[in-house]
Amino acid sequence: MHALISGASVAGPVLAHFLSRRGWRVTVVERAADLRAGDGGHAVDLFGPAVEVIERMGLLAEVEAARTRNDTITLLRYGKKPITVETADLAAGISARHVEIMRGTLAGLLHDRTRKDVDYRFGTVITEIHGTVAVLSDGDVISADLIVGADGLHSGVRRLAFGPEERFRHFLGAYLAVYTLPDVLGTGPTVAAFTAPGVAATVYPTLTPGLSRALFLTRTTEEIPRTRDAIRHLIGDRLGPQVSQVLAHLDAAGDLYFDDISQIRMDSWSRGRITLVGDAGYGPGPAVGGGTSLAASGAYVLASEIAASPDDVPGALRRYESTMAGPVRHSRKIGPSVLASIVPRSRAQVWVTAQVMRLLPRLPQPARAGLTSFGGGPAAMLDGLTLKSSP
Ligand SMILES: Cc1cc2nc3c(=O)[nH]c(=O)nc-3n(C[C@H](O)[C@H](O)[C@H](O)COP(=O)(O)OP(=O)(O)OC[C@H]3O[C@@H](n4cnc5c(N)ncnc54)[C@H](O)[C@@H]3O)c2cc1C
Repeated sequence: MHALISGASVAGPVLAHFLSRRGWRVTVVERAADLRAGDGGHAVDLFGPAVEVIERMGLLAEVEAARTRNDTITLLRYGKKPITVETADLAAGISARHVEIMRGTLAGLLHDRTRKDVDYRFGTVITEIHGTVAVLSDGDVISADLIVGADGLHSGVRRLAFGPEERFRHFLGAYLAVYTLPDVLGTGPTVAAFTAPGVAATVYPTLTPGLSRALFLTRTTEEIPRTRDAIRHLIGDRLGPQVSQVLAHLDAAGDLYFDDISQIRMDSWSRGRITLVGDAGYGPGPAVGGGTSLAASGAYVLASEIAASPDDVPGALRRYESTMAGPVRHSRKIGPSVLASIVPRSRAQVWVTAQVMRLLPRLPQPARAGLTSFGGGPAAMLDGLTLKSSP
């Protein structure tokens, strides 16, 4: 049996691991020319079942050792005293089991774990799909028993097999910009946070001393051009002079990520022997929806169902969808709820956020959990999901 997977980030390698262990031949094509390992990308969260998936891959010790060390967060308010809280307090309502790690580091560890058993082809994409035959950009033609798009929000497999992205994209009314810059604020290992009505920013350490990464979330219902000027226009000078200093490095950034915050909403994400996993099929919104945990858990569920009936792939895909339907439906509430909590709508909400941060460490655990659960939170969406024994 031969599986062709598009995308070598989170969902792709997790699925590749469990399928190859069941004796499947697995080819993974990845658009990027090489692995974006090490310090690349942004921090992502593994909650509950996703941590268990990593454990079942035998990777928990490595993942925990490589986790980020963003242990405190400081809210910086122009002309006022900073407020510092432990990130564990902020995550109190999210999950008892949680690891934060850079996405590039996680992708690197997943690749290392699977590279011996999986045919990885970097700098390669699927250009055509005819039934179960895929044409690759390296000239190869693969006749596969299973074709999987694990290729993220702007999935190529989704476009080829299900139609244009616009059909499935649901804009949440916000934008996300992330880029690397020198540690101009001198905040070192601390995460600095800023809020004003309609906008929130964090500046956090990277794994490279002397470098930080800035992340901006802004709320707007308009669709805007993806230009650096548009970012400057959206943020303005509302976050004070320190953030203006950060924005001054925007033009020099070579790794700018700037996209709308949208969810992928599909009634069904499988057709015959083709399916989607992770952000490609049910992205809950970058940075606000717990997409990494959903991607890792979804890949595991898919592998389990294939393992249960390798000779009936379409049946396995139907069971995979029905198991994931609840968590996916729940996940669609998370992004709007997180955005509402962390990007204040008014001056009054900016003030309330500061007071909550100030109070948080002094509250008993249940009260802390209540205040930080973000409407149930990314972990809660996976609560009803029981992982079958290792596929
Ligand atoms: C700035 C930012 C911050 C985020 N913060 C968080 C967070 O704090 N917590 C959290 O849980 N999640 C966060 N996320 C979301 C998280 O990164 C995703 O939910 C998660 O990575 C999904 O994994 P995936 O494997 O489904 O897809 P992705 O990680 O998106 O991987 C898709 C892979 O497919 C490749 N690819 C794309 N197109 C093609 C193609 N046509 N052919 C072949 N390969 C292709 C890409 O290069 C990539 O390697 C954030 C996302 C962003 C952008």
